[in-house]
Amino acid sequence: MKIHEYQAKAIFRDYGVPVPAGTVASSVTEACEAAAGGSFPVVVKAQVHVGGRGKAGGVKLAPDPAAVKKHATAILGMNIKGSTVRRVLIEPGIDIQTEYYVGMIVDRARRYPCLMVSAAGGVEIEEVAATTPEKIARLHIDPALGLRSFQIRRAARFLAIPKQAEKALAAILGGFYRAFMEKDCSLAEINPLVLTGAGELIACDAKINFDDNAAYRHPEYAALRDDAEAEPLEVQARHAGLSYVKLDGRIGCIVNGAGLAMATMDIVKHFGGEPANFLDIGGGAKAEQVTEALRIVTADPAVNTVLFNIFGGIVRCDRVAEGILEAMRRLDLVIPIVLRLVGTNEDKARALLAGTSLIACATMSEAARTAVELSTRGAT
Ligand code: GDP
Ligand code: MN
Repeated sequence: MKIHEYQAKAIFRDYGVPVPAGTVASSVTEACEAAAGGSFPVVVKAQVHVGGRGKAGGVKLAPDPAAVKKHATAILGMNIKGSTVRRVLIEPGIDIQTEYYVGMIVDRARRYPCLMVSAAGGVEIEEVAATTPEKIARLHIDPALGLRSFQIRRAARFLAIPKQAEKALAAILGGFYRAFMEKDCSLAEINPLVLTGAGELIACDAKINFDDNAAYRHPEYAALRDDAEAEPLEVQARHAGLSYVKLDGRIGCIVNGAGLAMATMDIVKHFGGEPANFLDIGGGAKAEQVTEALRIVTADPAVNTVLFNIFGGIVRCDRVAEGILEAMRRLDLVIPIVLRLVGTNEDKARALLAGTSLIACATMSEAARTAVELSTRGAT
């Protein structure tokens, strides 16, 4: 789950990382009010869940109130890589002397959180990693020990931080690491962390992604979620209690259980097809959820075939069948629907579906192969 820069900065501030004193504005008037009374220049920053805002014209320095109005007018409503700017962050401009990169991810291969620092800050780190990887230092942190002081010294040396800023860097890296761990982040970045003309370190930009799997223990995530930034179908699915992830293929998959969803995507690919999504209706799905699942999957214009793969345990196959029939009554479905429905009450389900246009298959591989064939045919 992604959040906005201003939200990430508020979290970092709570952990002792210095950030500019900013105000969020959702209109030009609010932006002008936020800048009024303060000192200039201010910076006007687009708040969207995508990077590279600066290059896209979404970060502008305003030397005076008139420029704030001009930039806020231009930036609000701007489309940056598919995201519409609904808010801007107004902050006092920073007198930037040096830009550093500070980031943290979970290194799955090493099974440790990994702190990354680079003196090549301000630019996209993916580019630095691809062209000049030696410019990034990676420090793996044992969560049982935390960030060690020798690691902080190593980071400071690698960044060639001026001596008088070393203490500040230690506090920033310590707070950054604690925020990452305590907030269950999957990614955190300060790019750039800036050394000002006055020799102070401050987080000029901030990015945080939360690990969705930790949402259950972070009720505070909910208030930070911006549904306007998410894939609309994913938002609808979440509200219906379904877990849905949109992918690039053409076969819409509706499955019960995350493991079966994975297996279904694998078998679709095995037969040369591409899944259009991952959709898990969950263990105890009701007919209405199945209807909603079918509506969501078929709302994706890329989907030309639907594959149901249901292993009825707690989920009853007849309920799934009822949900499908209800969806067919309500929605104008013209694409083929292939089914593999086995387990609890499968006989009842078969009886319910008899005489419909649905294509029932006895096994998972037969269903997947059929769906791939129909999808390929539909695509040509
Ligand atoms: P991003 O492009 O989405 O990563 O947005 P950033 O917040 O990182 O801003 C991009 C670039 O704009 C930074 O790397 C800085 O060079 C510049 N910038 C941002 N804020 C300020 C500021 O307050 N003062 C100055 N001089 N430059 C800034
Ligand atoms: Mn940045």
